[in-house]
Amino acid sequence: MENATRKQANILVIDDERGIREGCRRILTSKDHNVEVAENGQQGFDLIQQNNYDLVLVDLMMPVMGGLEMMEKALAYNQELIMIVITGFATVETAVDAMKHGAYDYIPKPFAPDQLLTVVNRGLEKHWLRQQTKHLMEERDRRLLEVANEKSKIHTIVNSMADAVLVINRDLQVVLWNPAAIKMLNITKKAAPEQKLDQIISQVDLIRTIKKAVDPESAHYTTLSEEIEFSEPEPHTLLANVSVVRDDNNEMLGVVCIIRDITQFKEIDRVKSQFVSMVAHELRAPLSAIENYITTYLTGAAGDDPEFNRNMLERSKKRAHSLLNLVEDLLQISRMESQTVSRKKELLDITDIINNTVELLKPQGKDKKLKFEIKIPQPCPTIEADRGEMEQLFTNLISNAIKYNVENGSVSVVLKSTDNFLEIKIKDTGIGLAEDDLTQVFDEFYRVSREDTRYITGTGLGLSIVKKIVENHLGRINVESELYKGTTFTITFPVKVN
Ligand code: ADP
Repeated sequence: MENATRKQANILVIDDERGIREGCRRILTSKDHNVEVAENGQQGFDLIQQNNYDLVLVDLMMPVMGGLEMMEKALAYNQELIMIVITGFATVETAVDAMKHGAYDYIPKPFAPDQLLTVVNRGLEKHWLRQQTKHLMEERDRRLLEVANEKSKIHTIVNSMADAVLVINRDLQVVLWNPAAIKMLNITKKAAPEQKLDQIISQVDLIRTIKKAVDPESAHYTTLSEEIEFSEPEPHTLLANVSVVRDDNNEMLGVVCIIRDITQFKEIDRVKSQFVSMVAHELRAPLSAIENYITTYLTGAAGDDPEFNRNMLERSKKRAHSLLNLVEDLLQISRMESQTVSRKKELLDITDIINNTVELLKPQGKDKKLKFEIKIPQPCPTIEADRGEMEQLFTNLISNAIKYNVENGSVSVVLKSTDNFLEIKIKDTGIGLAEDDLTQVFDEFYRVSREDTRYITGTGLGLSIVKKIVENHLGRINVESELYKGTTFTITFPVKVN
């Protein structure tokens, strides 16, 4: 009651008796309510349609439109309207009749101001309560909608994640999993409530880690991370991060398990470590040889023979030189593999590069009395290439053709142009390669170990650099060879079509 009396309400009084209308207006405005009046049912109904009333007082016996008819229409218009009947004949029948027509209460004429206020306040209280309930229900609906939206957002995010997500409660039931989990963990079961972890996934290591996280004994853990190796359906490595979820009272609710497939990273890691260990191995031999020579010299073990000493120093120099070559090649590889390498490609006619390289390297073939031949169609088709890398490519291949050649042998560089490609053949009549070595010569640090290659120095990186350069220029390289007959490297580059 308190509330209703304090609030200001919009009230309509419908009565054909002016005295009643004005009396009601006086009493109700004294309580700060806004009061409007109507003389008959029709007028009242018109006002109800135009305005928003909190309460309507209505007489039953009126000309034009009686109270009962008006109430019926008003309720059809607004079924929540609170209407109080003012009646001259306060009989039980009229009251019941009025209630049946939708009245909330009634007040018999004549009435004292207090009587009117009591009935009106009761009606208003009902009205406010209804309003409040309606408001609360709307609010609840809105919240439910928000929660549903939020749920569907989270659902969408979880479902589109590349990482696998498993949510497991403290009873070890899987309550949520996403498509990535199905794929990564090979889950064949359909989602159903209260499914136990080990009924859904088969990876025992993962089950063990999750159980460890859920175990009350390990309550101090917040996250457990574990790399898990699987061989089925194919070998792969997963990194599982199991986070323990707790409520405000630190009570454990379950775990969220995020699993990432790190197979590729592991492979890169393995290749890297292998490379580092190969480099260390390659650096070690010449360095320890140099150290040995120096130690021999410093300890005087070499004696005073100047010839012997000079020989040792020369060998040291040779090993230091090959060490430098190795470091140069390594730097070249790392430059080519770094993302930031600046390759300056231009439209190149490689005739000059080939002629110059052959001229530069010819002296190395002098001892073996090698013959050189260059065949380049003129005009030579241009390719889009980096000049420095092309020089490196021909240097590596032609110097190999010289190094692995035999006395009175020959080296030829033959270019042929086809529709869209420029084909380059670097052919030698040297020691050749065995079938088994053909596939491996492009691998880093691969050197054929044969009696006739024993004294030929090299880093084993030259051809792997060549291959990288070719690939960087969208080309292809292959090798054909016959043992003791010779070797031919064939490169094809796409020709720049204008
Ligand atoms: P290296 O510095 O040892 O020459 P490369 O990567 O250039 O390294 O070559 C790898 C291996 O391939 C060499 O050790 C050699 O055994 C073999 N090879 C390369 N070119 C030829 C060739 N023209 N004829 C025969 N064997 C070759």
